[in-house]
Amino acid sequence: MNIALLTIGDELCIGQIINTNAAWLAQACTDIGAQVQRHITIGDSSDALLNELQILSHEFDCIIMSGGLGPTHDDKTKETLVTYFNDTLILDEATLHNLKARARLRGLPLNQRNMDQALLPSLCTILQNPRGTAPGMLFEKDNVMYVSLPGVPSELKGIMNDHVLPRLRSLIEEEHGKKPFFRTILTKGIPESALADLIGDPAAFLNEDDSLAFLPSYHGVRLSLGV
Ligand code: ATP
Ligand code: MG
Repeated sequence: MNIALLTIGDELCIGQIINTNAAWLAQACTDIGAQVQRHITIGDSSDALLNELQILSHEFDCIIMSGGLGPTHDDKTKETLVTYFNDTLILDEATLHNLKARARLRGLPLNQRNMDQALLPSLCTILQNPRGTAPGMLFEKDNVMYVSLPGVPSELKGIMNDHVLPRLRSLIEEEHGKKPFFRTILTKGIPESALADLIGDPAAFLNEDDSLAFLPSYHGVRLSLGV
């Protein structure tokens, strides 16, 4: 399961906010045994998104996008996905219900911009977002999975934990025929190069799909093992 992460937003490109979504997504996907092999960040541009999707779809099993799902003019992800998949928007009653309930709870009126968030691509599986207004979307085409998530970190994490990670985990288990196994081994007082000598050539004891990463820090070297 090769995954590309595609984070979207002008604020990320200009360094106004730190791309914590990319780090969180990468760690969460790695923890279930997926291989995150590319990170891409683009501004709020439809053309840039279409371009990246075309490239990544030839190289990855799964593309996880974050950002650009809000109700304002700079949020272009949903419309761009409609173009990319040659799809149309249809009303999703469950999302409209969620939007109305959230507005009622806050005593706020629901304007057209908000209501439009319940218009969703007909071809996607809608990933409900009880923590916010924009649901996630999951498309599958030509053996590639495309996931689009809101940029707000708490909402992104909620949808990943509730919907996306369980789905990816079962696909990985199917692919491997077993549950991936992960252990982190904390070492202290052994420099990285001495530890590498002690361990020897990983190819001698790991299978092709297994992984061993050295993660040095001031506190010691963490060995991250995945088999
Ligand atoms: P919204 O409904 O808030 O517009 P959205 O899906 O359109 O959601 P963005 O507009 O891209 O998402 O981002 C919303 C907020 O989420 C940003 O103000 C920012 O604080 C945060 N955010 C977006 N992308 C990231 C990211 N990659 N890492 C961390 N925080 C992010
Ligand atoms: Mg937005």
